[in-house]
Amino acid sequence: MTHYQAQDAAHHIHPFTDTAHLNQKGARVITHAEGVYIYDSKGNRILDGMAGLWCVGVGYGREAIVQAVSAQMRELPYYNTFFQTSHPPVIELAARLTSLAPEQMNHVFFTGSGSDANDTILRMVRHFWAAQGQPERQVIISRKNAYHGSTVAGASLGGFSVVHEQGGLPIPGIVHINQPYWYGDGGDLDPNEFGLQRARELESKILELGADKVAAFIGEPIQGAGGVVIPPLTYWPEIERICRKYDILLITDEVITGFGRTGEWFGADYFGIKPDLMTIAKGLTAGYIPMGGVLVSDRVFDVIANHGEFYHGYTYSGHPVACAAALATLNILESENLPQRVKSDIGPYLQERWLKLAEHPLVGEARMLGLVGGIELTPNKTKRAPFKVEKGTVGLICREHSFNNGLVMRHVGDTMIISPPLVISHSEVDELIEKATLTLDQTY
Ligand code: PLP
Repeated sequence: MTHYQAQDAAHHIHPFTDTAHLNQKGARVITHAEGVYIYDSKGNRILDGMAGLWCVGVGYGREAIVQAVSAQMRELPYYNTFFQTSHPPVIELAARLTSLAPEQMNHVFFTGSGSDANDTILRMVRHFWAAQGQPERQVIISRKNAYHGSTVAGASLGGFSVVHEQGGLPIPGIVHINQPYWYGDGGDLDPNEFGLQRARELESKILELGADKVAAFIGEPIQGAGGVVIPPLTYWPEIERICRKYDILLITDEVITGFGRTGEWFGADYFGIKPDLMTIAKGLTAGYIPMGGVLVSDRVFDVIANHGEFYHGYTYSGHPVACAAALATLNILESENLPQRVKSDIGPYLQERWLKLAEHPLVGEARMLGLVGGIELTPNKTKRAPFKVEKGTVGLICREHSFNNGLVMRHVGDTMIISPPLVISHSEVDELIEKATLTLDQTY
C-alpha cells in the first residue's frame, strides 16, 4: 500500500464498501480525468463505462462548466432561498428545467442529492393528501430492488432487504411489490404479458391496503442499481392507468434516467407516461457539483402552494454554484443535442454491439436501453442459473479484471453494468466492447 492508500484506509470510511476487504489492498486512487477516461495514481488510463456513478453525462474536463462555476463563486458563492429570497441562477434554472420537463411539470424544489429529493417526495405527497383532508393516505408503494438513496426515507423507499436489515428499515407506511424483471422471473411468459402481470400487482396491493390509504407509487423508469432492469413496454402505461383509476400519485425517480440517458430528456418521456412528481439529480450537474431536485406538476403544486407553509428545506436548496453548474450542463446537453445523439446515433451503435455479448457462453441476457445496459452472467444459459465460477464473483470480475483491462464496469448481483458518458465516441464504444469481451473471456 502506498502512503496515500494507508491514510485512506486508516481515516476514510467509504460508502457501500466492505472495509476489511478494502484494507487488504487499499483503494485505487483516481487522480484526474478527461473526456470519457479516468486516470489512477499509477498512471493507468481507464475508460469510465459508468460515467462516475451514472452521472457524468457530458464527460470530464468540460471547461464551460468550470468557468460557470468559478464565475458564480466570485459573484455570489452562497445565498439561501428560504424566507422569501431568491437569486438569478436559481430563477433561471427553475425556468429552464421546467421548460425541458414534461408539460405538466411547471415547478421545481431543489435539494442537494437524489436521496434527499426522495425524502422531499415522501413528505410532499403526505402533505398533499393531508392538505386535502385525507391524512390517512400515507402509504407509498415502491418495488423490490428499487434504489432511491441512502437517507432514512430514501433507503426505506428502496427495496433492498440487506439495506433494510441495518437500522430497522423501512419506516412505517412504505410497502414493496415485485419488479418487472423478466429475465429472472418471467419464465416462459411473453415479456409484454409479464409486464402487464407485474404492473397489476400494484392494483392488487392497492385493493389489499384500501385505495383511501395509498398516497403514491414510486419507481425508477429503468431500475439502475437493481441490475439495469428494463421493463417491457406494457409495464409503465399499465402502472399509469392503475394510478389514475385509484387517484394515486405517480412518481418517477429520474435520478439515473434523466437528462438524456434513455435518448429522451426523461425516462417518463421514453415510456410515454405523465407522472405527478419526478426526482432528479446526477446528470443535472453531470456530477461536477452535488445537486438534486423534485419536479412538481401543477396538480400537486396547486395544493401545496395553497395550504400555508411547507415546513421543509435544505440550507443548500438552490445553491447558486450548483445552479450555475446545472445551467452550464444543460447548455452542453442542448447545444450538442446529446439526448438525440443517444437516440439515433451512439445509442443504437453501442446497443448493437452490447446485445451481441449475449452470444458469449457466460452471458444469460444482454439488455440495453439508450446508453444504460447490463449483461447478466450465468454458468448455464438454459437454466438461467446463478453465476458461480472458480475465478470469483461478478463483483470481483468488475472491480479487478475489468479495471485492470482498462474499463470501469459495475456489478449488481450477477449483472455487469455500463452507463457511459453520453459523449462517448464510436471508437471509444469499440474499445469498451473489446475490453468487456476480454474480461468475459478471461473469466470463462
Ligand atoms: N435514485 C436513484 C434511481 C439512484 O440511482 C440514486 C443513486 O444512485 C439515488 C436516487 C440517490 O441519489 P444520491 O446518491 O445523489 O443521493
